[in-house]
Amino acid sequence: MALRLPISCRVTGAGRVLGALALAACASPAPAPAGPALARFEFSEPHMGTEFRIVVYAARAVDAGRAAKAAFARVAELDRRLSDYEPASELTRLGVSSDRGAPTAPVIVSEDLWRVLEEGQAVARASEGAFDLTIGPYVQLWRRARRQEALPRASALSAAAPAVGYAKLELGAEHTVRLLAPRMRLDAGGIAKGYALDEVLDLLAGRGLERALVVGGGELRAGAPPPGANGWRVALVGLDGPSEALELSGCALATSGDLEQFVVIDGKRYSHILDPRTGRALSERRLVSVLGPRAIRTDALATAVSVLGPEAGLELVRRTPGYEARVIVAEGVFRTAGFPGALSSGDSSP
Ligand code: ADP
Ligand code: MG
Repeated sequence: MALRLPISCRVTGAGRVLGALALAACASPAPAPAGPALARFEFSEPHMGTEFRIVVYAARAVDAGRAAKAAFARVAELDRRLSDYEPASELTRLGVSSDRGAPTAPVIVSEDLWRVLEEGQAVARASEGAFDLTIGPYVQLWRRARRQEALPRASALSAAAPAVGYAKLELGAEHTVRLLAPRMRLDAGGIAKGYALDEVLDLLAGRGLERALVVGGGELRAGAPPPGANGWRVALVGLDGPSEALELSGCALATSGDLEQFVVIDGKRYSHILDPRTGRALSERRLVSVLGPRAIRTDALATAVSVLGPEAGLELVRRTPGYEARVIVAEGVFRTAGFPGALSSGDSSP
């Protein structure tokens, strides 16, 4: 019977430990295998509007292949529940139920949706609404803006405002949810990928494949390190593309920024991240990286810190035990004390 050790989030670089996150969960990485030699396998498939990649060490190709197939099927299942693009998803149908009037009757949601709503609401409260799952009505206006290359009208944004606000999403006993305002739309785009990565890593570990790395869009989660290594080597993205290399095990790393998804209107860049308190798209160049034990949390925090900016954003991360962050803005590079590379030059403190 294999003993599943909780692997603490460790960051190493050039063979040197730069920081050990989540020290409370302290445990050493999985011991070197005494069993058969492990080989590296890599799989990728498009899911959730991005490419999901699984890198895993296994003794036999057939085990790796079956596990990857099950993992991608799980991501597809999560997307069917959590997609905000899909009219038939559980998440969309929940929002649409408020079109018939509010407050809605309590509805029991799936375990997956429940976990995403609970975690999303925790980050919403901690960030005082900088992260907000009820942002759907604004997201719809900005998606149209992107297609038409014209800013949403102020009147349209203010008409949508009464349907936005995390306090209007009420989680009750026994996985019940009520929506307190009419015409609400929920959007898990800032958290679902992270949850999917956590679920995939757990699924692989459940099949005995603990030495795994899963990547989806700007997010990743690393399990136990490859054989003989301290961690998975990943590139930390800077404003001009990949920069520093990190070695991670037992950690999630999320990056949010205006690298990929933005629209230019009248020469100004607008991000796909919005400020839920105003309905405006972010237009400053900000690049946020968050490290910590679970991808569901690094994903949501990265979105929240993007909205809050370096000062309030890093304050939020400091209040979140086990998590560390770095924010790059025009004024400089800001990081929490445990984020790797704190000794490099060019750092500032907010
Ligand atoms: P990425 O998809 O690049 O990883 P994020 O994780 O930051 O980026 O998620 C961005 C998505 O989250 C948007 O496309 C939108 O669906 C949703 N979103 C935008 N702003 C917010 C916000 N302030 N709070 C919660 N979700 C948001
Ligand atoms: Mg996010």
